[in-house]
Amino acid sequence: MPEFNLPKTYDFRSVEQRIYAWWEQSGYFKPSNDPNRPDFDPAKKPYVISIPPPNVTGELHLGHAMFVSMEDLMIRYHRMKGVPTLWVPGTDHAGIATQLQVEKSLAKDGLTREQIGRDEFLKRTWAWKQKYGGIITGQIRRLGASCDWERERFTLDEGLSRAVREAFVRLFEKGLIYRGPRLINWSPGLKTAVSDLEVEYSEEPGTLYYFKYMLAGESQEYIPVATTRPETILGDTAVSVYPDDPRYQSFVGRKVIVPILGRQIPVIADEYVDREFGGGALKVTPGHDPNDYAIAQRHGLPVISVLDEAARINENGGPYQGQDRFEGRKNLWEDMRRAGLVIKEEPYTLNVPRTQRGGEIVEPMISIQWFVRIQPLAEAALQAVNDGRIRIVPERFTKVYNNWLENIQDWCISRQLWWGHRIPVWYCTDCGEMTVARFDPDRCAHCGGPRIEQDPDVLDTWFSSGLWPFSTLGWPEDTPDFRYFYPTTMMETGYDILFFWVARMIMMGLEFAGDIPFSTVYLHGLIRDENGRKMSKTYGNVIDPLTVMDELGTDALRFTLLVGSTPGNDMNLSIKRVEANRNFANKIWNAGRFVLSTLQSMKVGGVEDIEKYSGPFAPFSTVYLPAVDRSSIPDPLDHWTLADRWIYARLGALVRDVERLFQSYQYGEAGRQIYEFFWNEFADWYVEIAKLQLSKGGDGPGEMEAQAKADARISDLITMQLLAYVMDTCLRLLHPFTPFITEELWGHLKSTLTEAALPYRLTSEALIIAPWPEPRLEEMWEQDAVTQFSLAQDIVRAIRNLRAERNVKPGRHIPARIVAGDRAGALRAQAGTLAALAQLDRNALTIQESTPGRMEGHVALVVGGVEIYLPLAGLVDVEKERLRLEKELAEMQSQAQRLEQLLAGPFAQKAPPPVVQKERDKLAVINETMQKLAGQLESFS
Ligand SMILES: [Zn+2]
Repeated sequence: MPEFNLPKTYDFRSVEQRIYAWWEQSGYFKPSNDPNRPDFDPAKKPYVISIPPPNVTGELHLGHAMFVSMEDLMIRYHRMKGVPTLWVPGTDHAGIATQLQVEKSLAKDGLTREQIGRDEFLKRTWAWKQKYGGIITGQIRRLGASCDWERERFTLDEGLSRAVREAFVRLFEKGLIYRGPRLINWSPGLKTAVSDLEVEYSEEPGTLYYFKYMLAGESQEYIPVATTRPETILGDTAVSVYPDDPRYQSFVGRKVIVPILGRQIPVIADEYVDREFGGGALKVTPGHDPNDYAIAQRHGLPVISVLDEAARINENGGPYQGQDRFEGRKNLWEDMRRAGLVIKEEPYTLNVPRTQRGGEIVEPMISIQWFVRIQPLAEAALQAVNDGRIRIVPERFTKVYNNWLENIQDWCISRQLWWGHRIPVWYCTDCGEMTVARFDPDRCAHCGGPRIEQDPDVLDTWFSSGLWPFSTLGWPEDTPDFRYFYPTTMMETGYDILFFWVARMIMMGLEFAGDIPFSTVYLHGLIRDENGRKMSKTYGNVIDPLTVMDELGTDALRFTLLVGSTPGNDMNLSIKRVEANRNFANKIWNAGRFVLSTLQSMKVGGVEDIEKYSGPFAPFSTVYLPAVDRSSIPDPLDHWTLADRWIYARLGALVRDVERLFQSYQYGEAGRQIYEFFWNEFADWYVEIAKLQLSKGGDGPGEMEAQAKADARISDLITMQLLAYVMDTCLRLLHPFTPFITEELWGHLKSTLTEAALPYRLTSEALIIAPWPEPRLEEMWEQDAVTQFSLAQDIVRAIRNLRAERNVKPGRHIPARIVAGDRAGALRAQAGTLAALAQLDRNALTIQESTPGRMEGHVALVVGGVEIYLPLAGLVDVEKERLRLEKELAEMQSQAQRLEQLLAGPFAQKAPPPVVQKERDKLAVINETMQKLAGQLESFS
């Protein structure tokens, strides 16, 4: 046998890189059923995820770490289940974000993009992309992402650009794309339109300006009006009052005079006016306010724009032309004050629209833009969710989705940027017509003239990412990948981009690819700091996932993110949690070391009919067997100890629970249960008991001393196989959460088992492609084993607590007498284990059916109806002891009360009978315990 050479501690730094490279080189990330290969089987249904493409120039943050961990878990789970899986990776060109980065670097050289020109700017942006584009994908690899990197895509690559052209032209041909003047959100700093979704509102102190709108004519009558943006007065085209407002009814139909400019505009009546705001009348500026724009549409008012693209006052602003919007505001207001038009100013809290990217104040402006007529697309998208073809998890987001799509506005898709998909429209200088084309034309499609010029604008980034699930598979070509992998299965992303992205993919998938883009949308929450605050540079509470991975390992970070999250809810992340999970990784490693060293040191052999004693999970090479009817065969459990049966039963229950939780997307809860099982049941109990069983030959039926040598061997064999089996199963269950440490340990387990003479073998090449532990049915004997072992655990815990309370020296083995009624026989079989785990004197441990009478000088414990007497004479403080018993009795009474209430309520009728019976049994045990506690208390009186 080789020397035991597993390092003492888990060195994630050396393991992670090596394992990842090995997976990738071995081709494990590629779909097991590939439509481009001759052995392709079209009947197998694949499981497909398209990655939410991170910005190509981005740096890994926790949001990325979250979706990568979650999607990798989903992919690994299905891969282990034998489903052909494909996870398509890629990056997004991210229009504004990338352009700003490059502009920033230009600014360092004192240059602007206008100075170097469009072609040179794009050249530099591509160079930027080449230089930095690989960083983010490298970081995603570090997280363990098992994507098929050979299918990696970029939203500006050739194939995807073709898809964008195709989509644009099709929408145009269907009349769903149009160009026109519209009030849009204008970013004067970025000099581009930004979408509603890219605008953030912040409450800021401002001023409400009251002034007089003088009526035309000789009279000094006026209408008081209030505004927060006086410069927009220059673009007013009406003053509106509420239809039956008695204050102003007589003015409707007359004219008022625009201050300083002297233009005459009408007084109109419209129900939109808020009678409580300002003086109750509204100035109407259709060129710079969306609500006023709507009023203007209703009343046929002209629309006047008073700002240019840098938000300076334009030629419509009379004497203020050329002034910045805020300067113009100040000057106009001063002039109005001089003219006696100002009534008052008062402080006012404004809801200021600012751009997400640049941060400056957005101006609603009239501008010529390209739009998608979204109504028909939205209707199809609504239907796909409402008829159940697409399911949103958690379900409550369905309402949010519906509400947004029902009130959706046409989508402004043009951006005045250079980095992106240029709008495929050419304008003819000869005939003035537009040519819309899939391939760059060299002449006008209408007059044939060569003097055509392409629209300078580019498309909104979300236009190309909306095509992502099918453009990455080859659409518009009818490729094998597209035919087999589309529709994809799962769209996993943050709820914050449900509208930005998810809704658009659904609309565009239905429109272009002829089917839903995915059948399930899983939304995860945002990650906040440990106090629930948003992470931001300003607060200094940002956690960098790269640092965390450097210091604590990728598995610890992944496990923390996965276990801390529930669908759709934000999670708070603290480094302490990651540290705790690093400790969990160490726990796994240490348990693995124990199992491996045991397997390597024990010489097995000389046992005939080895399979006969292998237990219910033989043959081991295939591992998982469904329940077997054992009535006709000799019971293979004969040689199993109670602990063996218990751990096997508990593991079976765990596998069933994990499967149920995975099926209902409760990945976090599944992870917590695996953690609890591994740490609290396997490592803390079974491994400890296994050490005893192995060294002493086991606590088999009857007393050990009487067993033949061969029986001891069988017992050792069973224990070793169980250690290997539980370890193996746990590694499989943990693999989607913590892929690196599990793969590393599993490899050692595999080779150790191959070298050992055990029948239990691991046959897969690697854990990443090893079969998932499928749930088996619970067998009749399992519940009993769990109940019995739980009693033994409770007894050990109670004695340990008492020892700690009384400061009994560790290592001092004390005598004990256990009175257990009809459970005495079962407990006697556990005598050795109980003695070892509770540090009792094995030779002075008696387990009997009934009490021999009063036990003077003993401390009495009552656990689950079993009495334990420990002769701690001299250590017993009578008064303290009485108080302790009273406290315990009170606790039992409150437990009994709770159960009685439960059983008297609707639970008893509604819950399944076995579940109700379980509670009744619990109550019976508590009642028994209470009786015994009361009896012992009597002995003090
Ligand atoms: Zn033409």
